Amino acid sequence: MVLDNCLIIIISSPSGVGKTTITKRLKRKINKSYLSISCTTRSPRKNERNKKDYFFVSKEKFLKYKKQKKFIEKAKEHNNFYGTFKSELKKNYKKSKVVFLDIDWQGARNIRKKIKDNCYSFFLLPPSLSILKKRLIKRHSDNTRLAFSRLLSARKDLKYWDEYDFIYINDKLNTCVNEISKKIKDLIIEKDKRKSFKQIVKKL
Ligand code: 5GP
Repeated sequence: MVLDNCLIIIISSPSGVGKTTITKRLKRKINKSYLSISCTTRSPRKNERNKKDYFFVSKEKFLKYKKQKKFIEKAKEHNNFYGTFKSELKKNYKKSKVVFLDIDWQGARNIRKKIKDNCYSFFLLPPSLSILKKRLIKRHSDNTRLAFSRLLSARKDLKYWDEYDFIYINDKLNTCVNEISKKIKDLIIEKDKRKSFKQIVKKL
């Protein structure tokens, strides 16, 4: 897939680092950006809405979409399936400057194999493992087992940080959002410069 007008920005992190909040803030800060809505078989959380946060589907439906090759990538996480619809990218990369993908390391790996140009990956780290532990226990205060299972998989996810183009530590939320947003704006400028150089060289 060749993307000329648009950047694909992958954002990954272990659970509890604040990726969803950061990605949503980045979307507000970057003009003409779109946050791809994934498909999942997990149940919606209290504040989540179908077709806004995820396309929530049954396992049967997910497997049907998989058979129909509707996903550009898919992964299994915490016993649930997650997938990025090809249509989410296709319908948005023409009209957007940036399409954000909030996906895990498996998805990031697969997308990078399929999209070579204008695709950058960002990995968010917690300031420390003990802070991550506190955040996860707070988030899942009613389910300690879930908090510890998320912590366990967070430790596994951390192993993949080195596969990413850019690494940021989410210590202070605003600082982290501002730094990433500046980096993305620089990448947009760089892409546009290259695009205009291409035109100039063509005419030489
Ligand atoms: P959660 O259930 O907490 O919303 O997400 C769990 C993990 O699945 C997160 O790391 C999230 O980024 C990842 N995820 C969400 N959507 C997708 C997707 O479409 N593909 C892949 N590979 N991972 C996803």
